[in-house]
Amino acid sequence: MPARVCVLGPSGRMGRAVIDAAAGRADVTIASAVDRAGAPTVGAQVTPTVTATSDLGAGLAAAEVYIDFTTLEGTLSAAQVALARRTPAVIGTTGLGPEQEQVIAELARVAPVVVAANFSLGVNLVLGLVKQAAHILGPDWDAEVVETHHRAKRDAPSGTALAIARAIAAGHGSDYDAVKRHTRDGDVGARPRGEIGVSTVRGGDVIGEHTAYFFGAAERIEISHRATSRVIFAAGALRAAAWVVDKPPGRYTMLDVLGFAS
Ligand code: NAD
Repeated sequence: MPARVCVLGPSGRMGRAVIDAAAGRADVTIASAVDRAGAPTVGAQVTPTVTATSDLGAGLAAAEVYIDFTTLEGTLSAAQVALARRTPAVIGTTGLGPEQEQVIAELARVAPVVVAANFSLGVNLVLGLVKQAAHILGPDWDAEVVETHHRAKRDAPSGTALAIARAIAAGHGSDYDAVKRHTRDGDVGARPRGEIGVSTVRGGDVIGEHTAYFFGAAERIEISHRATSRVIFAAGALRAAAWVVDKPPGRYTMLDVLGFAS
């Protein structure tokens, strides 16, 4: 039986992509769709059988799992309602803060939850590659991450850039928060050994580009990923939804879903 999915934010770029990608898949079916009151799709049909609502409780009651690509407020309120219902979750909203992390941790104690800043297969492979590169090259090779996204993106640096930078820190065996440098401005001095820089570019309709640089003496390695369609994130999130429904409570990553050893 296909997993019955509640899609949050059907008016948004990712919510729409999830609905489109679900059509024709055998492992999932869209059972409900919930957006904030006043959002364009509320009251409108988003699939031949589903009308979007702003009633989160009703939306979750109709489904076995929900997929959340919304905002910090959307993620917080959905996880709070899901907590009471023990609804499995797939969460892709980025820029999560302590408030969201806490309620997600509470939800993960009673239901299985997949949280990923990036649901694409390629980016999850890149996370493993940069960790391995950082481990082999060490902190004498200066590691920097540059990310580019469309002008409407709210959070910076991107969640994916942070995941890549954290993977580099893990490869170095360093504490990311002690070595990170998010964008430089002014008289910042020479680059300390082991620093990991993350820089942000915003413009146009770029879906998402990330490059990890490793600068050695007289040579340089670049590991890049470029997304050219949101379909990759939507398909990954649907795969995660089908995977997570029968898992025990806990917090999982896309590496778990894909079966990659971390
Ligand atoms: P968007 O602005 O196009 O859509 C956001 C949607 O959320 C809208 O439909 C909006 O009405 C809805 N929303 C806002 N508040 C809500 C609430 N309280 N309850 C329910 N719905 C609510 O944004 P987007 O480009 O679709 O991105 C959404 C999020 O997903 C961002 O955080 C983005 O960074 C992230 N994202 C993650 C991945 C990934 O692979 N993890 C990929 C792409 C985007």
